[in-house]
Amino acid sequence: MSQAYDAVVIGGGLLGCATAWMIAREGGTVLLAERDQVNQHASGQNAGSLHFQLEYRMMEHGIEAARKAAEAMPLHLEAARLWKQLPAECGEDIEVKQSGGLMLAETAEQAKLLERKTEIERSWGLDIEMLDQAGVQRVAPYLSRSVVAAAHCPIEGKADTRAAAPALARAAARVGAEIRTRCEVISMRRDGGQWRIELTEGASRREITAGAVVVAAGVWTTELGKMVSAQLPTIPLALTMTTTLRVPQFISHLVQHAGARLSLKQALDGNVLIGGGWPARLMRDANGNPDFTSRPELLRESLAGNATAALGVVPQLAGIPALRSWVGTTTVTPDQLPLVGPVPGAAGMFVATGGSAFTLGPSFAEALADLVAGRAPTTDLTSFDPKRYQGVHA
Ligand SMILES: Cc1cc2nc3c(=O)[nH]c(=O)nc-3n(C[C@H](O)[C@H](O)[C@H](O)COP(=O)(O)OP(=O)(O)OC[C@H]3O[C@@H](n4cnc5c(N)ncnc54)[C@H](O)[C@@H]3O)c2cc1C
Repeated sequence: MSQAYDAVVIGGGLLGCATAWMIAREGGTVLLAERDQVNQHASGQNAGSLHFQLEYRMMEHGIEAARKAAEAMPLHLEAARLWKQLPAECGEDIEVKQSGGLMLAETAEQAKLLERKTEIERSWGLDIEMLDQAGVQRVAPYLSRSVVAAAHCPIEGKADTRAAAPALARAAARVGAEIRTRCEVISMRRDGGQWRIELTEGASRREITAGAVVVAAGVWTTELGKMVSAQLPTIPLALTMTTTLRVPQFISHLVQHAGARLSLKQALDGNVLIGGGWPARLMRDANGNPDFTSRPELLRESLAGNATAALGVVPQLAGIPALRSWVGTTTVTPDQLPLVGPVPGAAGMFVATGGSAFTLGPSFAEALADLVAGRAPTTDLTSFDPKRYQGVHA
């Protein structure tokens, strides 16, 4: 007889680990299947920004695009609340620091855009205020005087990407979840109101059954959707990160820019982490499809562009050597809103991905755990329902 679980979670990134933990702590039997190692992919490679303001990529196409992206604000607000309590609840220090974020303007036009953006965010209930040049210098004297205004969101911050998902996996295991690494889901089929899921672990192959399946597979989401003939369209983005050597603390905020790809922050151990959406080159297979098993190629122009954006607003960085740069791959969706909800045509299967899913991971996980338990989700998921893409070619 195949082993039976209430739920199988596919993927051991932040999302999968948080979801397995939330299901197991309510008493559900859950197996988390991770093909590689926990936290090996995007969740362990990202910048660790907890950004609750709309990001540059959501504003670069104008205010109407920003207004659309703001529909995800309830997920942002819920994530801000959940991150705050996560270290105490999961029992480990994962360096959550919500000491505020600044989105900078260096031109009058960017300042105007920020003002309009903050109006939208405030209408959704986000705590955010505009600072003028003097106000910026007062709270962040490390910023260049070229910064003429900033949007200040006091609940923004960061968490340690190396620690968060492994801590959640351990918390999940403590409440009974089975965490299997080097364990790949290779097929799924619905049979008699259950899911039959075929797994490989090394050379062995086995089948298990589950009442519910959670797809927490990051860039592999579209591929897993195809296993059950569901359209789950995602767009892969290969991105670049750089960290400096450790220096004494001088940057106290998460810093972003209204007119450039930039995010930077200083970790507790002193390294300054610099990113913000600079591309790397995705590897492709012989048919031109993205090959997510190969590391994307680091691009010199992205390193130079990111460094220029950072030095422009934090001049002190000029004296701090870079230690290392790396790349990772993440997903966005065609309409930039997350994909969270039931998988169309696959009863008992649920998915979440898209956008800043490190920041939003806890609220995605909460929604998935609610759906698995058959409860109405805490956050209204209507705008994120995967069924909006039914009939769209994935
Ligand atoms: C460079 C970079 C910087 C970023 N910066 C930020 C940031 O500052 N803030 C933010 O909020 N977001 C950021 N992101 C985005 C964020 O990292 C991702 O959205 C998030 O980590 C996704 O988490 P996940 O758990 O959904 O996916 P992942 O961490 O990718 O985990 C998915 C897992 O599923 C597993 N899997 C796939 N298929 C199978 C299968 N068939 N069987 C078993 N396992 C399978 C994979 O092996 C993988 O481990 C960044 C991303 C990158 C690349």
